[in-house]
Amino acid sequence: MSFAESSNYFFKQAADLLELSEDTIALLSQPYRELHVQVPIKMHNNQTKVFQGFRVQHSGARGPYKGGIRFHPEVDLDEVRALAQLMTWKTALVNVPFGGAKGGVSVDPSTLTESELEDISRTYFKNISHILGVQRDVPAPDMGTNEQTMAWMMDAYGAKFGHSPGIVTGKPIALGGSEGRTAATGYGVVIILKHYYKHLNKDLADQSIAIQGFGNVGMYAAKYLSELGCKVVAVSDVSATVYNEDGLDIESLQNQVTNGSFLQDSSENNILERDAVLSLNCDILIPAAIGGVINSNNWKNIQASVIVEAANAPITPFADYHLHNRGSVILPDILANAGGVIVSYFEWTQNIQQHWWSLEEVNQELEKMLYNAADECFRIQKDKNISLREAAYFIGVQRVIKALELRGFI
Ligand code: NAD
Repeated sequence: MSFAESSNYFFKQAADLLELSEDTIALLSQPYRELHVQVPIKMHNNQTKVFQGFRVQHSGARGPYKGGIRFHPEVDLDEVRALAQLMTWKTALVNVPFGGAKGGVSVDPSTLTESELEDISRTYFKNISHILGVQRDVPAPDMGTNEQTMAWMMDAYGAKFGHSPGIVTGKPIALGGSEGRTAATGYGVVIILKHYYKHLNKDLADQSIAIQGFGNVGMYAAKYLSELGCKVVAVSDVSATVYNEDGLDIESLQNQVTNGSFLQDSSENNILERDAVLSLNCDILIPAAIGGVINSNNWKNIQASVIVEAANAPITPFADYHLHNRGSVILPDILANAGGVIVSYFEWTQNIQQHWWSLEEVNQELEKMLYNAADECFRIQKDKNISLREAAYFIGVQRVIKALELRGFI
């Protein structure tokens, strides 16, 4: 099953529950628009190299298209298509007034010089700019992109269309970014987990946790969980897993990684192979790296009873089905990692109003919106006796359908 077929699989589960017509399913199984552009760059050795860039707009029924830009060697149209659809259901579930989109360039940013990375960011953004706009399509960071990339993209857009801070979110605060945006996705993962354990009347601080991916999302999730007193027993990155059954020193690992080293070179002495993180003995597993990592080959090895999808689509439909039947709880991506898009929404409104919020205001509003979305998922899950993923999709898809009906599309 391709990545895009996987996201359609979860959509179709909700479509069945909502008894949608074949025409409506056909409308939402495909994106509204797909753009594939060349990104030609003069490299430091003076040779011209052509990278492939994409922007896919899935649905704009509920507002401007919204979704991150990924720089990763495995980016292709199929992956971007799947991720764009996920964004449609995510923005609808947490009830921010956006549609869904995604973008990316097939490139390994770790192999580029700083000026090549800047050139790729500017050229890619310029080449897709005719379908973007503050009220049309508003990108954000994702894997391999960050505040600096967003600053270059905003600048490239401004050179063509005039100063437009609201054209991207996830910018540096000095250029109109929001307090709390950088940490928001990882912080949101922790808010959802805290809320879920409260719902169960259990203490999150008693749990042991393994996290795959120690980038923007994984690192902040690890930081806030260890601050809550949880035992983060393992974290991993593209190089290795580091493990300590008594709990890792997250602050020290964070300092090492932000200074440019990989986990395999860290001072922790129990270094395991990269994918070991997935099958360790722990209560909670948080995949926070790439898609499809829990699949038909390895789902049986997962020991954690709760899996929190901080990454987008880390569990394939096959593994999802079997893990659910086995009794594992999966907090789905469109809920668990929605903190990022919620604070992106706050950033966009601050840019439009040119009025700034404090970190306390941002985090208070973020918690409120995530609690509301989670409570709705818990209620629908119980009422309909379905999984949390099915409940989350049910709510998201239903909201998009309502908007399509009111606009007269269906
Ligand atoms: P990032 O580039 O900052 O970090 C990615 C991390 O994953 C790095 O530690 C990298 O070494 C690791 N990694 C890459 N390939 C791996 C592999 N094969 N095995 C193990 N680790 C691997 O990216 P990020 O922004 O933290 O995004 C991580 C995930 O979260 C992605 O799926 C992204 O779509 C999702 N997400 C991000 C945001 C956001 O605001 N950044 C919002 C929602 C969802």
